[in-house]
Amino acid sequence: RAKANGKGQAVEYDPELDRERIRVAELEGLLKNAIGSGAIEAVFQPLVSASTGVVTGLEALARWKTATGNVSPEIFIPLAERCGLIDALGVHMLRTSIGHAKSWPGLTLSVNVSPIQLCNPEFAAQVIAILQELDFDPNRLTLEITEGVLMTNPDQARRSIDQLKRVGIKFALDDFGCGYASIGALRQFGFDRMKIDRSLVSALDVTANGADILRATISLATALQIPVTAEGIENSRQAAILRDAGCDQLQGYMLGKPMSACDISSRLREESAA
Ligand code: C2E
Ligand code: MG
Ligand code: MG
Ligand code: MG
Repeated sequence: RAKANGKGQAVEYDPELDRERIRVAELEGLLKNAIGSGAIEAVFQPLVSASTGVVTGLEALARWKTATGNVSPEIFIPLAERCGLIDALGVHMLRTSIGHAKSWPGLTLSVNVSPIQLCNPEFAAQVIAILQELDFDPNRLTLEITEGVLMTNPDQARRSIDQLKRVGIKFALDDFGCGYASIGALRQFGFDRMKIDRSLVSALDVTANGADILRATISLATALQIPVTAEGIENSRQAAILRDAGCDQLQGYMLGKPMSACDISSRLREESAA
């Protein structure tokens, strides 16, 4: 480990840091190949109506399976952002998830978009071109973004959002409540939906005022007429509290884990048979 260098102290050579750099470079190469070869796949997690329990939409989530196991998106998404691969990964995710969603008529499709993509001036035109090419109704597509983008490059973010909203694409503010995004940002950028972060939902199990905090957050969104999805619902007590607090959409392991396109199709068949 390199010494914290006080005045006059040399920084020690750190072989561990070098090995780390080599590992990162290797991982970058692997990720580039994975995007090109289709080893990055989309799984889909149900978005369920809080009042009826019916699946009304799906969120696409990226999965990277390697010979030695799965790499978490918490690892490879930031890696892709750092090494300039996020645009290619994002386009790949849009194409493949829209390709699958075409066989689920009537359901919405939510796709996560990195702040870096949204700040690319070409992004909006790329998305519109993909929708045209795959003949997918823009009104069925929601792009999920986190607050990061609103801080780093609000002007370009705004231009992309406006351009995409004009063709009917919806925007959801993801992970609300775990960072700095304000209710003001919700209004200012014209978000169509707010997603309450899983950490606030899991807090219901451990803190006494968790429900009050959630209720206050949801009523602010409701006052702005912005519908709210709760993420990370794992038990029926959480579901009941969030439904009563005014969430119209629930998402979480209790309602459905992220699944392959094939498993989603069977679940939808079962539902329509019931
Ligand atoms: P997110 O968009 O907030 O997605 C929700 C995450 O919570 C997913 O993790 C999902 O598997 C997990 N989750 C859902 N319900 C539950 C639950 O009941 N309990 C628990 N413990 N977890 C639950 P995942 O798939 O690992 O993705 C993590 C994050 O990586 C996503 O958070 C998103 O920010 C990012 N990500 C995933 N796919 C993409 C992508 O295609 N593009 C971009 N830019 N980011 C992505
Ligand atoms: Mg999301
Ligand atoms: Mg989220
Ligand atoms: Mg998240």
